[in-house]
Amino acid sequence: MKVVVVGGSIAGLACAHALFSAGCKQVIALEKARTLKPAGAGLGLDPQTCQILAEWGLHQQIMDSTIPLTIDQIQTTDSKSNATRVLARDENFNYRATHWSDLHRMLYDKLPRDTVHWGHEVVSIQQIEDGDGLGVKVEVKVAQTGQTVVVDGNLLVAADGSMSLIRKHFVPHQHLRYLGYCAWRGVFDYSKNDSPEMIASIKKAYPDLGKCLYFDLAKETHSVFYEMHGKRLNWLWYATQPEPHMQMNSLTAKVDKIAIEKMHEEASKICVPELYALVKATAEPFLNVLYDLEPLKQFVWDRVVLVGDAAHPTSPHGVRSTNMSIIDASVLGQSIAKWGFDKISTALAEYESIRLPVTSQQVLYSRHLGFLK
Ligand SMILES: Cc1cc2nc3c(=O)[nH]c(=O)nc-3n(C[C@H](O)[C@H](O)[C@H](O)COP(=O)(O)OP(=O)(O)OC[C@H]3O[C@@H](n4cnc5c(N)ncnc54)[C@H](O)[C@@H]3O)c2cc1C
Repeated sequence: MKVVVVGGSIAGLACAHALFSAGCKQVIALEKARTLKPAGAGLGLDPQTCQILAEWGLHQQIMDSTIPLTIDQIQTTDSKSNATRVLARDENFNYRATHWSDLHRMLYDKLPRDTVHWGHEVVSIQQIEDGDGLGVKVEVKVAQTGQTVVVDGNLLVAADGSMSLIRKHFVPHQHLRYLGYCAWRGVFDYSKNDSPEMIASIKKAYPDLGKCLYFDLAKETHSVFYEMHGKRLNWLWYATQPEPHMQMNSLTAKVDKIAIEKMHEEASKICVPELYALVKATAEPFLNVLYDLEPLKQFVWDRVVLVGDAAHPTSPHGVRSTNMSIIDASVLGQSIAKWGFDKISTALAEYESIRLPVTSQQVLYSRHLGFLK
C-alpha cells in the first residue's frame, strides 16, 4: 500500500504519523511550500489531541513546548470606562497552549527524513483502475526543477487545507463562506525582558495569564489573549469588515504599514489600554481572513479521503481546526489498522462515518459561537 498525502502542515504530518502507526510502510507527503519554516502564532490543544500526540511518541515534546491552559474566561470590557466584568469562567478547561511552529516542528522531526517532499505542488489528480485495483495518479509541479512529474499511489489523503484543490475536484460548486470578520494576530516575545513595565501592567490587568485563555468582548469586536511557552504572548483581535480582496492562494492577507496604523488606531479605541500597548508593541502583526464551509456530505471518494481543513474549514471560535485535524488522522489510522489494506474501502467508510457527523456539528457550533461573540 503506497499512500500519497497532499499537504505537509498539521493534518498532513499527523496523517503520516497515523499511517506509519497503522503499519503502512510507504507514505509520502507532498508539500508545495519549499521548506520548513517558522510561521503562524498560537493555538490550543485539547486533551484528546494531547493524548494522540503522546501515542505517537511526542509526550515529552508536548510537555516541554506547551503550557497548560486550565482556565477559559469570557469577560466584557466597557469601551468608555474600560471596566471589566467576568461573564463566564471555566476552571476545568484542560487545554494546552502551543505555537503552530513548535507543533509543526515536533511532528516533522519525529517522521522518517524522506517522508515530506518540500516544493512539490499537486496540480491535478486522477482516480485510476488497473490490474491491482483502484488507485490514484497525481501530477506534481516540482519547484526545484520546474518540471511536472506523475506520482501514483493506492490511497490519496487530501490534507491540503481549507482551499483544497482536491475538495474542489469532487465538490466544485461548494465554496468557502466568508464569516464577516477577520482576525488580526500577533505574538509578542518578552523573553529578553526589554519591556518590563508593559509586561507588569499586562500581568496586573490579566492576573491569570500563564494559565488562562482570555476572551474579551467589546462593542462589535472581541479579542483573545493567552501566554505560550518561552515567554511569548499570543493575541487575536477580531475586526468586523467586508471581505478583503485577496489572491485566493492564502487566507493570510498581506498587510502594509497603513493597514497596521489603522488597526492600531481602532485598537486604541476598543481594547483595554494594556492590550492595546501589547498590540502596538508587536512586530509584524498579520491578518487572517476567516471562512468556513457548509458541512460536506462525504469525505471519501473511492481511494481519496479528505482530512483536516480540506474536509471541514471552520471558524476559530471553537478552538477546533488543529484538534479536528489530529483526531481525523488518528481515526483514519485506527480504521486502517483495524480493517487492513485489503479492506481499505471499509476502513475509509468507517473513518467517514465516525468523523463526518462530529466535525459537521463542530463547524456549525464554531460558526454559532463566532456569531454570538
Ligand atoms: C504556515 C501555516 C501557519 C499556520 N499558523 C496557524 C496558527 O498560528 N494558529 C492556528 O490556529 N492555525 C494555524 N494554521 C492553520 C492550521 O494549521 C490549520 O487550521 C489546522 O491545523 C488544519 O491544518 P491542515 O493541515 O488541515 O491545513 P493547513 O494548515 O492549511 O495546511 C494545508 C497544507 O497543504 C499545503 N498545500 C495546499 N495545496 C497544496 C497542493 N496543491 N500541493 C501540495 N501542498 C499543498 C499548504 O501549503 C499547507 O501546508 C497555519 C497553517 C499554515 C499552513
